[in-house]
Amino acid sequence: MRKREKRERKKQDREIVDLMMVTNHFFHSLKEWIMEMDDPRNQSYITYTQADLGYMAILKNVCGQFSMREMEENFNKETCIDTLRLLSGNRHLEEMPHYDTLNYYLERLSPECLSDLRKKMVTSLIRGRQFHRNRLLGKYWRIILDGTGLFYFKERHCDNCLCTKRKTDDGKTVKLYHHKVLEAKIVLSDKIVISLGTEFIENEKEDVSKQDCELTAAKRLLQKIKKAYPRLPICIQGDALYATEPFMKLCKKTCHWEYLFTQKETRQKKLDEGFEWIKSGEDAERQPGLCQEKGRGFYANHVEEVAGKTEVMNVFEYEYERKDKEGKKESLCFEWVTSLEVTKRNLEEMILAGRGRWKIENEGFNNQKKGLYRIEHLNSKNSNAMKNHYLLTQIADILMQLYVAWNPYIKELNQTLKNTSSGLLESFRRQPVMDEDVSYIFRYTTVYLE
Ligand SMILES: [Zn+2]
Repeated sequence: MRKREKRERKKQDREIVDLMMVTNHFFHSLKEWIMEMDDPRNQSYITYTQADLGYMAILKNVCGQFSMREMEENFNKETCIDTLRLLSGNRHLEEMPHYDTLNYYLERLSPECLSDLRKKMVTSLIRGRQFHRNRLLGKYWRIILDGTGLFYFKERHCDNCLCTKRKTDDGKTVKLYHHKVLEAKIVLSDKIVISLGTEFIENEKEDVSKQDCELTAAKRLLQKIKKAYPRLPICIQGDALYATEPFMKLCKKTCHWEYLFTQKETRQKKLDEGFEWIKSGEDAERQPGLCQEKGRGFYANHVEEVAGKTEVMNVFEYEYERKDKEGKKESLCFEWVTSLEVTKRNLEEMILAGRGRWKIENEGFNNQKKGLYRIEHLNSKNSNAMKNHYLLTQIADILMQLYVAWNPYIKELNQTLKNTSSGLLESFRRQPVMDEDVSYIFRYTTVYLE
């Protein structure tokens, strides 16, 4: 596309209006859901509604405003106030809320409220049937566990901080304090992978004999998801950390879900030995020509018997060759363990699920850390506000992913995510939302996602 054409095409993109249209299409009760949350503030002193504050926080994220100060400066415009008024439905809104006002509210709001709001959003996406064809084996929603570090401090920041000791060069021991989070993301399509559950990895109090860790947090998170989505058919996915018998038992026996984990010989030695033994058998047949690389696949069901385990362990692997930087051939091999029966017919689909095509399209935390939202930026030192800021980022990310998957211009112009969010900021600051836009936003249209 020539530069001129690009400019012309760009003109047709009405960023903020389109974001509102897509949001309204998928969640037409979003404003009501925000207003229904338990407002922790004294009602006789409030100027701003929960919708004013909630939408402002969402806009902070989608417009790529990393700090509260930056947001306050950039959002201080008549146009922004008018658009926020339209979104929140608060006719009395005269000014953008001050960032202290937003933090005051987020310090008090229960994070449960935002979890519930996210649950309403996820549920309506699942009910919409639009994503049903992306379920694993036509039945299971893939839920991926993924943990990451969020904030690091030199001094203890709160009673719940995790603590690690480090030796410095001169032999002194220093303590570092940090906060971690575990996410459960649901795969709606290759491009849309959104947050369904969040568990903060933190200590209950300052003096604990054993610190909280990802695996323990995952056990809590699974139980919460089961409670929130009791009948959803789920296949839990994660790396080799989770490929242990107790965790498989929790998935299968307690939650009645399936699982698919990366398998590493160091994690499950006996299982690996069993699989190797089966693989070396005379009638062990490899399936060639699988996936893009036309590699070879192999599977064996119920390896738990030879491994001396009781949980169902069906093992499969994928092997392919590629050329490294110097043009030398190298062979790569991946292995997984699952409770689902692997067959000749579903082997390729299982390999694709295990490798996580979603990782290529949607870089998960990488995007949220470095690109769009800077989730590592501390918006408030208060622990409760910190959690709420984090959850609001996840909620904004749902809207952003749907908007990006819908937006035909982003793809045509090959626009980066960063430019997409600066486009949204510009549009939010400059473009007044007119009556005809409002009817476009609320008109029932079919929204095609890529
Ligand atoms: Zn802390």
